[in-house]
Amino acid sequence: MAPHNPSYLIIGAGVFGVSTAYYLIQKYPNASVTLVDRDAYDAESRVAASWDWNKVVRADYDDKVYCRLALEAQDIFKSDPLWQPYFHQTGVYWTCRSNYAQNVITNHKELGRNDDIIALPVSEARKLYGGLFDHADYTGVKEVLINRASGWAAAGDVLRAVTKKCLELGVKYVAADVATLEFDGRSCTGVKTKSGEILSATHVIVAAGAFTPTLLEWSAAKSGNTGLRAGERILAAGITTGMAQLKREQYEQFKDMPVGFQGYTPDEGKPFIGSLPPTKDGELKWWGSKIFKNTREVLPGRYLSSPPPTHDYNQWKVPGPLKQDIIESRNLWYGPESADWEMTKHRICWDAFTTSSDFIISPHSASKGLYVATCGSFHGFKFFPVLGKYITQMLEGELEPELVEKWAWDRQRSDSSQNVEYPNSEMKHLLGVTAKL
Ligand SMILES: Cc1cc2nc3c(=O)[nH]c(=O)nc-3n(C[C@H](O)[C@H](O)[C@H](O)COP(=O)(O)OP(=O)(O)OC[C@H]3O[C@@H](n4cnc5c(N)ncnc54)[C@H](O)[C@@H]3O)c2cc1C
Repeated sequence: MAPHNPSYLIIGAGVFGVSTAYYLIQKYPNASVTLVDRDAYDAESRVAASWDWNKVVRADYDDKVYCRLALEAQDIFKSDPLWQPYFHQTGVYWTCRSNYAQNVITNHKELGRNDDIIALPVSEARKLYGGLFDHADYTGVKEVLINRASGWAAAGDVLRAVTKKCLELGVKYVAADVATLEFDGRSCTGVKTKSGEILSATHVIVAAGAFTPTLLEWSAAKSGNTGLRAGERILAAGITTGMAQLKREQYEQFKDMPVGFQGYTPDEGKPFIGSLPPTKDGELKWWGSKIFKNTREVLPGRYLSSPPPTHDYNQWKVPGPLKQDIIESRNLWYGPESADWEMTKHRICWDAFTTSSDFIISPHSASKGLYVATCGSFHGFKFFPVLGKYITQMLEGELEPELVEKWAWDRQRSDSSQNVEYPNSEMKHLLGVTAKL
């Protein structure tokens, strides 16, 4: 049940925040729904992990819950006129060093889906797509998962389009940096921006991605309510992406490629590494194998992982060792023949992580009227079309019990040792002591 005259203030206009605004304004056209973000939604450059040239939209999950939700989201990407122009069904090519492929295929069958999804031996798979992945690293690969139903989305473009739609439907957008949450006793009543403006609402939803732990830490200090801190629940982590400009003839060769994933296991000490089909401007993107935290003092005597303290998180200032990581990952896909590719862009992208890579979509247990909806853990984008549905259910106490437990603020947390994505190094250690951030 929605409360009388509810109002919603959402901190963060990434996929978690925007999807929430989109669902809320459709369900309650007369409600006050406000998105507040440090960057304008149509800014040239944004720090949001959700803002990107392209992101993988796949339903190849061995976790049945995410498999189901990813299928639900992918169906919207394929059919709804708001989302459809941004989705590209190129398929996915996934080298598997575990039973991943079989687990995914089983999930799809059990969910009653008949997508074109198969597992092939390496010798057969590497001949596909004109042998584009023939030079990839196949050490330890058991089989290759091919799912022709998956693909990618033009991430920044669809984020802008859905935000614009929200504004047309009545959502307000405030471009401002939030300094702290505001409280009346233990109830959260809104936020204070860095310029001193107060924004108030009955429901305050923190969807601030990698900045969430820092914002909660600042708010704990301001209010004296130490229970607000994220503690071990959320870790801000960074990863580097690189883009190369393909020459005309290379573009012709790569333009119909599928999304590629190198699936490693914890024993190999690498995360899974992906490469996406070229953009229409002929730029090919992939990401590195180093996933790192950035522990720094966010308040006197308080240390936690947080993106660098500049407006743009220094996301475009990528130091040499991280550029080297990009070269090494490129070789895992395209081998020595890619040595002369012209690199056009490097970016460090920050996201919020949990040890199990499960989201947090939950009331905050230390304050009334305060909710948390983030922790995409490097896989949250693809759920953009459905996140808001589940976040709205959470706000109204209608989330199914399995999801309540999976996404709770307070829950049993697994250790991170089996999670190949979980950051295990400090950025400063990767860069060496002399590097400046
Ligand atoms: C390199 C990389 C590749 C990825 N690839 C994929 C992929 O292929 N497929 C996939 O499904 N997922 C992928 N992900 C994961 C996905 O991008 C994220 O999980 C998801 O976008 C997180 O969304 P979010 O809304 O939680 O956070 P964000 O998108 O980061 O949004 C948070 C917003 O909060 C705002 N904010 C923060 N602090 C404040 C403040 N104090 N005041 C005001 N505003 C604030 C920020 O400006 C930002 O706009 C990838 C992530 C990375 C880093």
